[in-house]
Amino acid sequence: MIANVLVMIRKRSRTVIGAALLGCCFMTPQPALAADCAGNPNALGTSRTLVVDPMEHPRIGTMQYPETLPLADHEVVLTFDDGPLPKYSNQVLAILASQCVKATFFTIGSQARFNPDGVRKLIAAGHTVGTHSQNHPLTMNKMPLEKVRQEVDDGIASTLAALNGDKSKLAPFFRIPGLMRAEVPEAYLASQGIQVWSADFPADDWRHVSPQRVYDLAIQRIEAKRKGILLLHDIQPRTVAALPRILATLKERGYRIVHVVPATADRPATPTEPQQWFMHPPTETVATTRWPRIPNFVFTATRTLPAPVFADLDWRDADILDHAQRARIGVAVRTLWPQPQLAQLAAASTLPVPAAGVFRVPEALDLTLLATRSTASRRLAAPAAGAPRAQAISARQVKHPKQAAHQVPAAADGRGRGAPLQVAPPTASNASVHVAKRVPRAEASAASKRVPD
Ligand SMILES: [Zn+2]
Repeated sequence: MIANVLVMIRKRSRTVIGAALLGCCFMTPQPALAADCAGNPNALGTSRTLVVDPMEHPRIGTMQYPETLPLADHEVVLTFDDGPLPKYSNQVLAILASQCVKATFFTIGSQARFNPDGVRKLIAAGHTVGTHSQNHPLTMNKMPLEKVRQEVDDGIASTLAALNGDKSKLAPFFRIPGLMRAEVPEAYLASQGIQVWSADFPADDWRHVSPQRVYDLAIQRIEAKRKGILLLHDIQPRTVAALPRILATLKERGYRIVHVVPATADRPATPTEPQQWFMHPPTETVATTRWPRIPNFVFTATRTLPAPVFADLDWRDADILDHAQRARIGVAVRTLWPQPQLAQLAAASTLPVPAAGVFRVPEALDLTLLATRSTASRRLAAPAAGAPRAQAISARQVKHPKQAAHQVPAAADGRGRGAPLQVAPPTASNASVHVAKRVPRAEASAASKRVPD
């Protein structure tokens, strides 16, 4: 639906690009300049309208993507999610109107169904309306395509229903609920010509924080980046309480509000340079500007890679033969390297004791020997090579064989786990070792205390 319209628009827009370049400034909606704001000569106002082509820049917002809107220093775009909810959305509309500020709203389909008049008010006030799914699931990153499609399409249909199906009033902009991005929704939205909007800074207004905190976070984060997309919610009382001060401070500090609208056949995209779509565009003065970059795999379509076949592990001819050739070659190729003589190994009655450093393994991994120190000692005392294994196992181990198999070798001197391991020279009967994951109780409880609430 929207995709088809957009494809058509895009084709047509190319044919009129010459005229567009000449006439773009006259065809874009005129922003509500502060000076024109009725009843409020000191209003923040909307400094300009930015027209974007979703097909050219399918994902924006540096919280998650490399690109963001092509804003100049001290330019901010306001966005509001999760409405319309009359009680608070109407107040947000009134505050924006008092400052002649235009914003972008991402509506939830179910909210639009319940309150279609709220959608119409957003349009009537001149704001941009995109969508935010039908039911606001916070699982879009795990959804199969069919469910993603249903959420996106239903959300658009519900919002369009409030606009009597007038697609020209709905922007092909979408914000994934909870910003739970994933390849499946992103690919589907791109295929529909819909632009995914993340953000450049949130103000945490969905959390149980005070309006003061919302204000502080909004201003601090805007000041840190000096431009970008602010993510707010028009269903929260704390947002309503914080918004007038946010706008007043932005005005005081010389920020300007930009209104974003989608390109159409009659309204071509604002001409921009590719580097403007980056928060910090590279410059010629940065030495690495022209250096090859590490590829960004975020949008790799492949979820899995083929498991290597055994023949791939044949490292010997890696430089000579390609993958296919190696796959055809058996592993029984004789190497040129000296091979250990198995007959000699079999004849050896003793092997060197492993150094203590061999047993130092990271963090919770621990080496557990199947034989305890005491049984090892017993075996040393009577090293009958063919002695039955059961003889060396204590009565307790017989009773709890699993527990015995995983227990740490007890140190006779009481130093426990920290004590250096003294291992009997491996013999035919006690050489087997077992690697197990183990977190000692004391360590686990200490770790749990460190976890914040
Ligand atoms: Zn939301």
